[in-house]
Amino acid sequence: MAGTADPHSRRVAQLAGAVAERDLDALLVSSPANVRYLTGYTGSNGLALIWASGDRGHHLFLTDFRYETQAAEEVAGVFARYVAPVDLFAALDERLAAEGATHSGAGPFRLGFEDAHLTVSQHDRLSELLADGYKLLAAGGLVEQLREIKDSEEVSRIKASTQLADAAMAEVLGAGLVGRTERDVAIELELRMRRLGAEAAGFATIVAAGAHGALPHAQPRAVAIPAGVLVTIDWGAVLDGYCSDCTRTYATADPTDRQREIYQLVLDAQQQSLSAVRAGPTGQEIDAVARTIIEDAGYGEHFGHGLGHGVGIEVHEGPRLSRLRADEPLRAGNVVTIEPGVYLPGELGVRIEDLLLVTESGSEVLTSLPKELTVIA
Ligand code: ZN
Ligand code: ZN
Repeated sequence: MAGTADPHSRRVAQLAGAVAERDLDALLVSSPANVRYLTGYTGSNGLALIWASGDRGHHLFLTDFRYETQAAEEVAGVFARYVAPVDLFAALDERLAAEGATHSGAGPFRLGFEDAHLTVSQHDRLSELLADGYKLLAAGGLVEQLREIKDSEEVSRIKASTQLADAAMAEVLGAGLVGRTERDVAIELELRMRRLGAEAAGFATIVAAGAHGALPHAQPRAVAIPAGVLVTIDWGAVLDGYCSDCTRTYATADPTDRQREIYQLVLDAQQQSLSAVRAGPTGQEIDAVARTIIEDAGYGEHFGHGLGHGVGIEVHEGPRLSRLRADEPLRAGNVVTIEPGVYLPGELGVRIEDLLLVTESGSEVLTSLPKELTVIA
């Protein structure tokens, strides 16, 4: 139980500072992942209202009657909890009025909202409810920015999630791959993660053999995996609210020269870009390390996605490691994937993905499974 937990007070205090810097009076947080990060609440239909740093009292948490007990157990003590009888926005309007929100100064009360999450109809409803003394302002991304730097509690949750996913994979590989369908392998991996304690799979598991592996986001088919192909498996767990994400590519018989060549190329790109990770360079610069190796080998057009992404409460979050974004520098505490791939349509695909914690001087790789090309028959 979060209780008066420190991490939440710390996160909220940091956010309150960012809200003040944006010249807002308060920020309405409606994204479930952001609400969870700030409050500890794991249910649905929760809202958090963070005051700009100043002299106001408790920040606000609102939910409906179905979650009253859960909210009492989970929501951090830095929030005052309100259970709304009808709808949350009406309750929010009441709470704001009760707090004297519009009497705080000369101009209107500047209320920020998460424009990437609040729907147009929710925005309309809110505008309708709030009296003239309010101004609604798009202020998305503030919580997401905080979430990019993991604290030690988050890092240990992500590590545990990664270890669980690795253990599930080791169990599945023990039974071999040849003759089982892609679908069966995917289902078994997800089942074993659940049995080992995962809340869920972090995303739909990818198992793609042979030419099907040339689709980066292939759907597992009810097709038996043959001998003599490469099989790409991309999977992850959710444990204590935190995701893991890993990809390995295995051979189902002694690899051909061609399979070896492509595998080695991706492995070189993966290892060299991984070695370049530390606080300082941008995601774009790290992406370029892998991309240059793959381009120089003549396969640049077959590496069509970004090199990696942040992982945390969501499996895809900031920072992005991509040639398409002039990202901010990586910072110590980022948890990111490094996952180059080469996809040859009609022939084969290879992707190798590790999850790592960025440190000042380098990185700590969280994934433990070996990366040499391994035969799993
Ligand atoms: Zn992945
Ligand atoms: Zn990934």
